Amino acid sequence: MAPAKPLKSPSVQRVGGRRPGPRAAAQAARVEAIFARLAALNPQPRGELEYLNHFTLLVAVVLSAQATDAGVNKATRGLFAMADEPRKMAALGEAALAEKIRTIGLFRTKAKNVIALSEALLRDHGGQVPARFESLRALPGVGRKTANVVLNIAFGEPRIAVDTHVFRVSNRIPIARGKNPEAVERGLMRVVPPAYLTHAHHWLILHGRYICKARAPLCKICPIVDLCRFEAKTL
Ligand code: SF4
Repeated sequence: MAPAKPLKSPSVQRVGGRRPGPRAAAQAARVEAIFARLAALNPQPRGELEYLNHFTLLVAVVLSAQATDAGVNKATRGLFAMADEPRKMAALGEAALAEKIRTIGLFRTKAKNVIALSEALLRDHGGQVPARFESLRALPGVGRKTANVVLNIAFGEPRIAVDTHVFRVSNRIPIARGKNPEAVERGLMRVVPPAYLTHAHHWLILHGRYICKARAPLCKICPIVDLCRFEAKTL
């Protein structure tokens, strides 16, 4: 893959109108270098969930909670071929939907939520997926992470969805530390340079899934090994 042109971004950002001290400046430069490197290796990162439109993206993300993207894709290929918009999904009904997604964990609860969210989209949003965080969060089965993924992928908003990979990698390297996903999300939104915000969560997910794995991180082939401060690096 051809290396990407470096994205323009201020290497040192002013905090509250004041110039940061040397430590904060070094930390900002390190975070910027991490994203510059991940961006150069994969300029246009893509999520691995398959979808056809905003609605099927929303459904796929709801189904992906505590499940692998590959497992969700296997079940949704057939499902989306027959129900790619809220009216068709609602008409399918909870029992038939549960049968189609029975290979995915928590399939009964997820079927119930997907039918309820399809009905809510028809009733409250003219059958369209809303582009507002609060409206998405109000839909059945849609949490903070799902709303952020949809706003980011469907509407191009610079948002960071913190899943298990982003949480682990961000705390480990570290980029932004936090005890729960929301704290990590807030930290990342603060420290990731604006030029990298739109793709940041994809880079971190892919890095966590394929390189910085939970049990045995592949530090020997890690492209940011010199920028990582994880004490238990496997070198
Ligand atoms: S050096 Fe190891 S621990 Fe650090 S980011 Fe790379 S894979 Fe993860």
